[in-house]
Amino acid sequence: MAKKQFKAESKRLLDMMINSIYTHKEIFLRELISNASDAIDKLYFKSLTDSNVGIAREDFKITLAINKQNRTLTITDNGIGMTADELEKNLGVIAKSGSFDFKEQNEKKDNIDIIGQFGVGFYSAFMVASKVTVKSKAYGSDEAFEWTSNGTQGYEVKVCDKQSVGTEIELVIKDNTDEESYDEYLEQYRIMGIVKKYSNYIRYPIVMDVEHEKLKEGSDNEYETEIATETLNSMVPIWRKNKSDITLDEYNAFYKETFFDTEEPVAVIHSKTEGSATYNALMYIPSRAPYNYYTKDFEKGLQLYASGVLIMDKCSDLLPDYFSFVKGLVDSEDLSLNISRELLQHDRQLKLIAKSIEKKIKNELEKLQKTDRDKYVKFFEAFGLQLKFGLYNNYGMNKDTLKDLVMFYSSSEKKLVTLAEYTQRMKEGQEFIFFASGESIDRIDNLPQTELLKDKGYEILYLTDNVDEFALQMLFEYDGKKFKSASAGDLDLESTEEKEQNEKTAEQSKDLFTFMQEALKDKVSTVRLSQRLKTHPVCITSDGEISLEMEKVINQMPTDAKVKAKRVLEINAKHPIFEKLKSLFESDKELLKTYSEILYTQALMIEGISVDDPVDYSNKVCELLVK
Ligand code: ADP
Repeated sequence: MAKKQFKAESKRLLDMMINSIYTHKEIFLRELISNASDAIDKLYFKSLTDSNVGIAREDFKITLAINKQNRTLTITDNGIGMTADELEKNLGVIAKSGSFDFKEQNEKKDNIDIIGQFGVGFYSAFMVASKVTVKSKAYGSDEAFEWTSNGTQGYEVKVCDKQSVGTEIELVIKDNTDEESYDEYLEQYRIMGIVKKYSNYIRYPIVMDVEHEKLKEGSDNEYETEIATETLNSMVPIWRKNKSDITLDEYNAFYKETFFDTEEPVAVIHSKTEGSATYNALMYIPSRAPYNYYTKDFEKGLQLYASGVLIMDKCSDLLPDYFSFVKGLVDSEDLSLNISRELLQHDRQLKLIAKSIEKKIKNELEKLQKTDRDKYVKFFEAFGLQLKFGLYNNYGMNKDTLKDLVMFYSSSEKKLVTLAEYTQRMKEGQEFIFFASGESIDRIDNLPQTELLKDKGYEILYLTDNVDEFALQMLFEYDGKKFKSASAGDLDLESTEEKEQNEKTAEQSKDLFTFMQEALKDKVSTVRLSQRLKTHPVCITSDGEISLEMEKVINQMPTDAKVKAKRVLEINAKHPIFEKLKSLFESDKELLKTYSEILYTQALMIEGISVDDPVDYSNKVCELLVK
């Protein structure tokens, strides 16, 4: 049979593995053992519902074997196995997820930080092996197949002889070179050490025939070799140990291995809870969002163990959507081992556990926010959006849980602040929590509407995410203070005198504004004197429930529902343009129409709203320029 070539991407990765100068080559064993353990998990899950599997839980195991003469190290599992197709698909091609951009950045960077991150685990075998043979028999199949490769020249798949279901991976260990020793991977103590270091909590026994020298019976200087099968991993799960016996490094190592993250989490929650719900939980708050976090593909959930036995890998009922980023596991003796997924959903005990877990997560986040703001900000940058969606969803049902966890950028602090921090430093007599929306912090900061507010010393929350205004609307108020947009309604900023003066000016210019409004008939519902502008000539604001930002967001959504904010063109009476408008009203009404159009369009552009007819606008401006 002809050799098949690896796909281009795989080839490149393979080259990296073969020529790796990676110092932790030993991790290849962790990768292979972890694959074996996953494969056993799969068959074990099947065995819960399919009596044909015929293997008892205690019979699942991973076997290591060293053969020094042949220079081989073999890893065998009695897991689910692979069909010929799967061998081809899983081992012939990598980068299944298509995320292969890492090569550019990482090749330059730390050589290989990518192991395990993109499902390249198996390939790490080529860091230590000159040839790899995978014999596998899939559960439910009569035939076994063999996949072989020496890395560089592609791979081959053919039928082979293998009786038992599962996978056997044989590595021919490379010869030593001047720089590098490979013999160590044929030393039993070295292998035992690697297993202890990386795979100690693998749930299935990792066994090996271990040779011991012992004194010959009846002799005091003659030794003989005794061979005994030993289990190399302790299997005592970390979450069942006492907190005081676990270091942060151990917690983090467990996290990285189990949940496939290369970065350390921002927080660890380890708790043993007794009472109405009795369980052990070990949970982590990641420091960054997985690439698919904000997509439909992301599956939330915690691993669920019943008395130390994994019964579900992602139990979604344990986590509310707004805390879906939490990774971890729950182990409870209150749950039955053989409970079906359907029944589990309605399980009273599980509901109690979920409630209790939610509280723990909330407390942990609040603690982090107070005690380590930098870490909290890192967390919030990754997952804040999810918390804000949580505020908004279900008609704000969860606002009490979430209102103190969300943060917004503050105009005065120039960083993220909580609503509590905002309200605590509100000015004497300040009625509202002010906010302004836009595409970016800079853009909002330059909005005409925010100038006067800032000038008068008010703090403004800058909202840059689509969901922000909706979340605040759902929240309605915080600590008795209502939210108020800098771009909507009456801000109530003036003194009584200023108010009177404004009313007088407005009254005098009533006809002018009516004329302008007619000129902009379908575009604005009102033209009025502005109370919020300082140096800018005009701005666009809105009256009523729907703000300009909401209009933008809702109309971007892929539904037919379109909304329109009631647009208001506001004119600054203190700006010279106002005198000009007044005089045009007396002398040249046609030109006043053009001015109205131009000012309106400018206000839209400042606001970041797309202009209906940019060509018309450009022509009008040009006409004026050549005048
Ligand atoms: P990852 O484990 O990250 O998906 P790998 O390259 O290590 O990436 O493995 C690719 C795939 O090959 C696995 O997802 C699994 O489907 C399959 N596989 C690897 N090792 C085994 C094994 N021992 N038994 C069954 N399937 C395996």
